[in-house]
Amino acid sequence: LVASLEQVDQTYIMVKPDGVQRGLVGEIISRFERKGFKLTGLKLFQCPKELAEEHYKDLKGKPFYPPLIDYITSGPVVCMVWEGVGVVASARKLIGSTNPLQAEPGTIRGDLAVQTGRNVVHGSDSPENGKREAALWFKEGELCEWTPAQASWLM
Ligand code: ADP
Ligand code: MG
Repeated sequence: LVASLEQVDQTYIMVKPDGVQRGLVGEIISRFERKGFKLTGLKLFQCPKELAEEHYKDLKGKPFYPPLIDYITSGPVVCMVWEGVGVVASARKLIGSTNPLQAEPGTIRGDLAVQTGRNVVHGSDSPENGKREAALWFKEGELCEWTPAQASWLM
């Protein structure tokens, strides 16, 4: 039980509206599932403008901020929380660079997207933001603590 000695982190992963519209929800969930992380929250959700603004508050003032808020609120998103040791940095690797044209093949954005403004998925950038974003997008009671039957093969 090596992992029990290390900090288990949370990351907030979101399939953005273009990912939902293009039918990529299963593909994206599948990549995190196959990696071996644990899903603790999942919902389809129409994001209100205020929540999108709070989520991206650090980017307020950037030229792409208004179109970013319009993009994120343009249709339903799939909100997820994934848990595991090192999950935040690992999820960012699975997702790939912000600009899909610079994202490596094999990453979600590298395989499935071309535009920075339509890059199909979000992932938290630090363990602190993972916690903050999980609490922002999910109410208490919406997250599920559980032990996968085969946890001992992974941890
Ligand atoms: P990431 O999602 O990789 O963490 P950022 O936090 O820097 O990237 O930006 C948040 C989101 O804002 C990006 O995923 C993308 O949707 C959008 N964005 C960032 N930079 C640009 C840009 N130059 N033009 C258009 N959209 C952008
Ligand atoms: Mg970011």
